[in-house]
Amino acid sequence: MTKTAKPTLADEVREATGVDVAECYQCGKCTAGCPMARYMDITPSQIMRLVQIGGEEARRRLLASTAIWSCVGCLTCTQRCPKDLDPAAAIDALREMAHREGTVPHEQKRVLAFHKAFLKIVQHTGRMSEVPLTGLYKMTSGDLFSDVLLAPVMLAKGKLPLVPRVIHGRKEIRRIFKACLRKEDER
Ligand code: SF4
Ligand code: SF4
Repeated sequence: MTKTAKPTLADEVREATGVDVAECYQCGKCTAGCPMARYMDITPSQIMRLVQIGGEEARRRLLASTAIWSCVGCLTCTQRCPKDLDPAAAIDALREMAHREGTVPHEQKRVLAFHKAFLKIVQHTGRMSEVPLTGLYKMTSGDLFSDVLLAPVMLAKGKLPLVPRVIHGRKEIRRIFKACLRKEDER
């Protein structure tokens, strides 16, 4: 009986995103354009390289890194890549793995709380809504008072609509979420 080889980290990223990290030739354009690179412990091109290398050590470094939680999803790296790769999607996949495997660094837990609150609001209203998002984030993160003084200013400028906006296609959005959660359960 032939043993099935364990998927490599690169296999897992390709399976989740379609990104073939083997295609990355380390030109560094993603890192050069990344507005968050200076705050990252591992830059976007280094992330791609570590996924290529794979193995336990690379996996441990990536899944415990703060870089994957510093990415703001602006997609500059993806737009700049001459190989049409999508480092932002690869980083997304690594974040999901870190969450699944419980390796999110303690100091990044608030970022995780924000991601969860964001998805919950989108799941229910079909779009981002500032007030419910802020309320849910504050309740789940314990970060109750930071930026609180900005609220009256934003309210006065009409930047915080009190009534959540909803879209017409909420049923379809819920169906997408259900399909994603089902896929997640199958893993
Ligand atoms: S821009 Fe593309 S090819 Fe260049 S290092 Fe980044 S991911 Fe690799
Ligand atoms: S999507 Fe993330 S990694 Fe890519 S340029 Fe923006 S912040 Fe940097």
